[in-house]
Amino acid sequence: MNVIISHDVDHITAWEHLGRDLILPKHIVRNCIEFGLKHISLGETARRCGDIIKNRWNNIADLMKFDRGRGVPSTFFFGVQNGLGLSYTPDDAKLWMNRVAREGFSIGVHGIAFELPEEIRREHDAFAAATGLDGFGIRMHYLRRNPETLANLEKTGYKFDSTLPELTPPFKVGGMWEFPLHIMDGDILCGNGRWQDRTLEQAKDSTKAILEASADRGIEYFTILLHDRYFSDSFRTWKEWYVWVTEFLKESGCRFVSYDGAIGELERAHAVL
Ligand SMILES: [Zn+2]
Repeated sequence: MNVIISHDVDHITAWEHLGRDLILPKHIVRNCIEFGLKHISLGETARRCGDIIKNRWNNIADLMKFDRGRGVPSTFFFGVQNGLGLSYTPDDAKLWMNRVAREGFSIGVHGIAFELPEEIRREHDAFAAATGLDGFGIRMHYLRRNPETLANLEKTGYKFDSTLPELTPPFKVGGMWEFPLHIMDGDILCGNGRWQDRTLEQAKDSTKAILEASADRGIEYFTILLHDRYFSDSFRTWKEWYVWVTEFLKESGCRFVSYDGAIGELERAHAVL
């Protein structure tokens, strides 16, 4: 099986949320619940408070280092528009997008606009202008979509999308490839969808079950999302799960590939057919 790993960048700093959204108070409440229910340790709770004070809410550099060491050609999705708790500035985004690209990783759009074609176009063009790239992909923030979203992304000129949460192989929408999202960190670590309530062992078991189900369905390109925010000792179980899953896949004989690499292979296979 081929595995495509990606990272959504939802935050760059903690303070970018001050006066702009309710992410910080919500985060503090969530920490209290997770600690109160004994799902996270006192150390993690304290580190999360420290992260707010230190104003460090991304782990992009650490994650690039880890992925490089493990041979994972990952893709980082960055927002170029604010919305739904994504509040970083275009300057911060530009700085990090270009750093990630310079270090040899792929970058794409973390989309906010999913309804109006002109808004989708505006986001696409803002990303192209900030990065100088043409030909890139997108994943919607919170996987938002409507029945027309994929067709509108295709018309806008996106090379691929990886938003659809379903256990199916990649498929083509006109000239665009859709890579359904098979494993998202939050689904694995937060069974209830609101806060972390899974142990590492439970997370491993559900990951293995999804991998087996996808093999049964003949999925040759499997996609995994880890938010860079969780590659941190402040979110120990999340980080340990990612370290484990990348090692497990490697040991199982899986091969890591980028979206672009996968598209090249799929296009060649189609041409042969
Ligand atoms: Zn997001």
